[in-house]
Amino acid sequence: MKKPFVTLDKLKEIEQTYQTPYHLYDERGIVENAKRLNEAFAWNHGFREYFAVKATPTPAILKLLHEQGCGVDCSSLTELLMSEMSGFYGNEIMFSSNETPDEEFVKAAQLGAIINLDDITHIPVLDKLVGIPKKICCRFNPGGSFEIANKIMDNPGDAKYGMTREQIISAYSQLQKLGAEEFGIHAFLASNTVSNDYYPVLAAQLFHLILDIKRATGVEISFVNLSGGVGIPYLPEQQPNDIKVIGEGVRRVYEEILVPAGMGDVALYTEMGRFMLAPYGCLVTKAIREKHTYKEYVGVDASACDLMRPAMYGAYHHITVAGKETAVYDHTYDVVGSLCENNDKFAVDRALPRVDIGDYLVIHDTGAHGRAMGYNYNGKLRSGELLLKADGSVEQIRRPETVDDYFATLIF
Ligand SMILES: *Cc1c(COP(=O)(O)O)cnc(C)c1O
Repeated sequence: MKKPFVTLDKLKEIEQTYQTPYHLYDERGIVENAKRLNEAFAWNHGFREYFAVKATPTPAILKLLHEQGCGVDCSSLTELLMSEMSGFYGNEIMFSSNETPDEEFVKAAQLGAIINLDDITHIPVLDKLVGIPKKICCRFNPGGSFEIANKIMDNPGDAKYGMTREQIISAYSQLQKLGAEEFGIHAFLASNTVSNDYYPVLAAQLFHLILDIKRATGVEISFVNLSGGVGIPYLPEQQPNDIKVIGEGVRRVYEEILVPAGMGDVALYTEMGRFMLAPYGCLVTKAIREKHTYKEYVGVDASACDLMRPAMYGAYHHITVAGKETAVYDHTYDVVGSLCENNDKFAVDRALPRVDIGDYLVIHDTGAHGRAMGYNYNGKLRSGELLLKADGSVEQIRRPETVDDYFATLIF
């Protein structure tokens, strides 16, 4: 059974200062997980996780990860600026964007970020804007489907990202002629993989490819960015990934493929968002209404504006009724927000203990792609964010939106 990282007593204590709904993050969980990741890849000199800012664009979270040695992965001007203001600089920033506007290339270059080119046609654009930097990365897309043991994990052939094999080989030659000296390769081929095999299978593909690139062009790739895609168990019956096993799996293919080819000094990067943060955040909301019509409804004070994944993807997010962890799950509810939009449902036909008005509902696994995907439909204001510190204290790390925030862009 999934257990929240926060107790009912703590929630009552928090309520004395901060009203629901809010996203709450677990500092200890975040730090311990980051340490486990760094240990799992400690065998690789130069390993670095570049946290995907889009997953949780909150300076306090970015700084926490920075303290653990992580860099950031940005894909927009705002994310670059936020990272700069959070203390990241130079090679601590990976810039993995697509359809990149000019000003974003300029800002990334100014910060000394590692620019990851999504397409071969971006080479002349970048060259004209700021020149080709000494260190540069290219994004690969093999097309087709990505399979592990005959099971389709995702369909890169349908994805807008990355270059074909022929293009990427030609891209490295062009970049070398234009003065680049250090080269990397990047690929993101499957999303939310709950499998310890994703990174090792992906790594093996990329390792073989960099040997081919070396043969074809003479270019030696010095870093491989495995990007994101390592998932988490949203469902209670799923087994979590074991990052130690993943790290060892990558090491095995590294030693099989790269070391014998004399490329045992290739650095590995990751660019995870979900794995780094999702389980260490939850959305805390309160039951404010009940409704008994053709179905049983629990109305809560959060909405899809605070957490879009269920409305957008039909994603499952586990819900715990705080203080009723051991009660019998003898009720079936739709847990809904107040948007005039019928997909504003955190859960449909969900077995729960009896919910009373005023109960706290803890919606699990919202630490990544949660608050970040929020929006303002119906004029709803997005919730704030709190950090539950390792010493048990609580710090507000983003205040809730106000009507003034919403009205700031309006012209009456
Ligand atoms: C979204 C994204 C990530 C992070 O993905 P997760 O599924 O959160 O691990 C990493 N890199 C790029 C380029 C992305 O777009």
